Amino acid sequence: MPPLQRLARPFRSARTWIALGVLAPIGMLAASGLMLADLRKDAWDKAEQTSKNLVQVLERDIARNVEMYDLSIQAAVDNLRAPGLPGLTPELRQLILFDRAATARDMGVMIVIDERGDIVADIAAVPPRKGNYLDREYFQVHRARAGLGLYVGRPIVSRLTGERMLPFSRRINKPDGTFGGVVLGSMKLSYFAHLFSQIDLGRDSAINLYLSDGTRIMRHPYDDADIGVNIAGTQTFQGFMRDASGSFVHVSARDGIERHYTYTRVGGLPLILNVALSTRTIEAEWRAKAIVIGDIVLVLCGLTIALSLLFGRELRRREAMQAELERLSLTDALTGLPNRRAFENAGAQAWDAARRSDKPLSLLIVDADHFKRFNDRYGHQTGDDVLRGLARRLSASVHRPQDLVCRVGGEEFAFLLPDTDEAGACRIAEKVHAEVSALAVGSAGIGAGAVTVSIGLAAAVPASTEITALNDLYRLADEALYEAKAGGRNQTHCAKPHDPAVAPLKHALRLMR
Ligand code: GH3
Ligand code: MG
Ligand code: MG
Repeated sequence: MPPLQRLARPFRSARTWIALGVLAPIGMLAASGLMLADLRKDAWDKAEQTSKNLVQVLERDIARNVEMYDLSIQAAVDNLRAPGLPGLTPELRQLILFDRAATARDMGVMIVIDERGDIVADIAAVPPRKGNYLDREYFQVHRARAGLGLYVGRPIVSRLTGERMLPFSRRINKPDGTFGGVVLGSMKLSYFAHLFSQIDLGRDSAINLYLSDGTRIMRHPYDDADIGVNIAGTQTFQGFMRDASGSFVHVSARDGIERHYTYTRVGGLPLILNVALSTRTIEAEWRAKAIVIGDIVLVLCGLTIALSLLFGRELRRREAMQAELERLSLTDALTGLPNRRAFENAGAQAWDAARRSDKPLSLLIVDADHFKRFNDRYGHQTGDDVLRGLARRLSASVHRPQDLVCRVGGEEFAFLLPDTDEAGACRIAEKVHAEVSALAVGSAGIGAGAVTVSIGLAAAVPASTEITALNDLYRLADEALYEAKAGGRNQTHCAKPHDPAVAPLKHALRLMR
């Protein structure tokens, strides 16, 4: 077989196409699944990188600004110790105290508070605006502890301006080290609001700034109610406390939305900044692609399955048709018995099997007696009916599954009887005569006993005989049939393989007919 044909051979089988119809969609689904997983990973990588960059940029901006604030506050604390300061005019004193503070952006309030909590110097007014800060948290903290350095308080509403501020403060120590008051520099929360609002993160995403005690300083998108809220007890916040920076996915306690949090400490300050991207937003673009790709793949899978099934069904139908044709080519149309071709196929196999197993094989050739007369008398149609009846009777004469009854010619039938010796075959022949004698075709007025047959019988053990092929056995049976005819018909004659009388007799008979 040429290689191309050998390759194409499996594709002629319905089973191959049905298997393809199952395997191809599984392959397609696996491949597209891998691709979608890869795309999803890309979307997450991109989001994580973006968040990281963003957090870094914001952190630097805030840290730099706070540093500048602190420098101004520190300068005021240092300048308070300048010699001769108390003797100066209030205007000059203000200039000296706050000389570097003018550069600070988003400056809220900058004041010097004495140990009683009263304002003694104010960046915005000479004489200073009036106010007492004894009750402020940062004042009390500094009074209680020296050496705190820069203290970042909780967001407050300024008593001087009414705006929301984040208070930064440093303690003033008297020359003897006792508490001498506080320098307060507060930063407007609007600075953070403005900084964060420049960034568009998409739906349900947010930027947050917290104090390390869990107090929210700012959130974007802005909601007044969020400011000052403490979330220290939430799992999200505990996530921020795990490291100096990092990321994790968590469902927000605030609104139940799942977000990817990227967080970092701001400089060395007690501030935590985070960018929280909604996982839905991260996956939105990917999801849209996944739906399109998924739909296309599903349609393709459906088509492949449908086409493969259709193709497989067509092939099945063709196979069934071929099998039916094959069956028909081996079947006699009139009687439904296997025909001569079937007999030859089965005969060759039976012969080989008998030879291999050293078992006998018998052959009966059954020929209707004077059949021509039935045709002549009753017509061809009735002749056919008789043949059909005869076929039924002959079939009824054998019972073993391996016995085969065939119509090998017009009114001639052959019995192939594996594993049957001459005696057994004789018994079958008797049964045949008995069955045929009961045959009647009522519609034509043919009664029982009207139809008779002559039988030629030949038996052999293929493994231990001179006969080398089924054809020879057939010839012997045929010759025996002539004997039966010559002997008066309606009888069985057994072939004697080495009976030298048979051949010339048969020859003579042939000449007579
Ligand atoms: P013999 O006893 O010597 O066998 O006589 P016979 O008439 O049976 O033998 P012969 O061979 O002379 O004639 C066989 C006849 O069988 C010829 C034919 O009309 C008839 N025949 C063969 N095939 C069919 C068939 O399919 N249908 C019908 N109705 N008759 C058939
Ligand atoms: Mg005949
Ligand atoms: Mg005949």
